[in-house]
Amino acid sequence: MTDAARHTAVIGAGWAGCAAAVELAAAGRVVTLFEAARTPGGRARQVTFHGLSLDNGQHILLGAYRDTLRLMRQVGIDPDTAMLRLPLQMRYPPGSGMDFVAPALPAPWHLLVALWRASGLTRTDKLALMRFSSAARWMDWHLNTDCSVTELLARFDQTATLVQLMWRPLCIAALNTPPERASAQVFLNVLKDSLGARRASSDMLLPRCDLSSLFPDQAARYVEQHHGRLLAGTRITGIVQQDGGWQLASAATTHHADDIVLATDNGNAATLLAPLTDVSALQALNHEPITTCYLQYPPDRRLPEPFHALIDDPQQQRWGQFVFDRGQLDTRHDGLFAVVVSASTEAIAAGQATLAAAIAQQLAQAFSRPELTVPIWSQVISEKRATFSCTPGLLRPDHRTAFASLMLAGDYTASAYPATIESAVRSGVTAARALLANDE
Ligand SMILES: Cc1cc2nc3c(=O)[nH]c(=O)nc-3n(C[C@H](O)[C@H](O)[C@H](O)COP(=O)(O)OP(=O)(O)OC[C@H]3O[C@@H](n4cnc5c(N)ncnc54)[C@H](O)[C@@H]3O)c2cc1C
Repeated sequence: MTDAARHTAVIGAGWAGCAAAVELAAAGRVVTLFEAARTPGGRARQVTFHGLSLDNGQHILLGAYRDTLRLMRQVGIDPDTAMLRLPLQMRYPPGSGMDFVAPALPAPWHLLVALWRASGLTRTDKLALMRFSSAARWMDWHLNTDCSVTELLARFDQTATLVQLMWRPLCIAALNTPPERASAQVFLNVLKDSLGARRASSDMLLPRCDLSSLFPDQAARYVEQHHGRLLAGTRITGIVQQDGGWQLASAATTHHADDIVLATDNGNAATLLAPLTDVSALQALNHEPITTCYLQYPPDRRLPEPFHALIDDPQQQRWGQFVFDRGQLDTRHDGLFAVVVSASTEAIAAGQATLAAAIAQQLAQAFSRPELTVPIWSQVISEKRATFSCTPGLLRPDHRTAFASLMLAGDYTASAYPATIESAVRSGVTAARALLANDE
């Protein structure tokens, strides 16, 4: 580092901001990472409940998360030990729904054999799924005009069973938007990167440690080792251009930077940019909630697999869509199950206590184990603005702004992906590289 090294402010230490900070620090920038909360991680972070280190929501990553896995390695996290790698699967509790698991064969044989062996699907279902898969490949996973996932599935004559057991859960899990309102093009993009790619890309990765330890904490350390710093508990309240650079205001003081990566959520980005430029694109996004219900049982309670899909039916108060047996990921979590409800507006309206009781009841019925009705404790955590609503033809803001020295990063910025850890990380990398390109 020289005195002439450029100083970059990264505002927001979620996964997008951490990715941008690592990329910039590695390229020799002096980075200050400003985070309003006490710890980095944003919407994918560690929280403490009942003395246990948990997450603000159970997450799942994919083998296709190329940049996330690369940056984890760069900061010293080994993805192979930090996460449990499972083949692509959709496994309902034994005797219900379907059982679909990709074997260790090269693509596309892993999918074909998985389909051939899958239980719970009729020959008609399997043929419909094969038709969908080959048509999507033939179209190169591209639609001339975007439509809803429901319309796409109808166009390819997908059976009611496939929609219920495969497509709806996949769509809600990946896009956090119900198929009736979800973008078919973004759904196809996700399928292309997982189902349409190498077998390893379709693998499912379950974190064994908390989400802050998985990348953000170590990313902050990496920045510090490269002459930068993390200022946690520091909310930036205003930015103005000054002397060819930027002045940033926080409650305590002001800070100078040559350039900025603004890596907050879209709402906070709009607030900071409103005095400087048009922010209508940042304000145009709607959001969907995600709820995770943790249920603690005696430590010897186990599920057959590390995670299962569940048949949800809000009419019957069956809210859970996936259940994770945390004890199979981390022995400190023996007997702890995490049940995920995506696009959870209706579930939240039920109230926390009612929701937790209904989910425990759903588990007891789904696994035919009455003892699961009564957990030792339960904890519901709802993230009301978990992701943007991923609707057809949605125009997402570009990472470039009206200022060459100020880039946007965040899962909401323009990308082929829905709001995920990987889209956040890729946006951070893109914003950082765009700033670095200004130097060339
Ligand atoms: C419950 C839940 C479950 C999810 N499940 C999955 C999943 O299974 N797989 C997956 O890939 N993705 C999942 N996601 C989505 C994923 O977590 C997000 O896409 C990703 O974390 C977004 O990262 P980000 O950096 O873009 O934004 P954020 O995480 O929102 O980061 C923005 C940061 O900016 C900070 N900030 C805001 N304003 C200021 C300011 N003025 N000054 C300083 N700091 C500020 C915030 O405190 C925050 O830390 C899930 C999300 C949730 C909430």
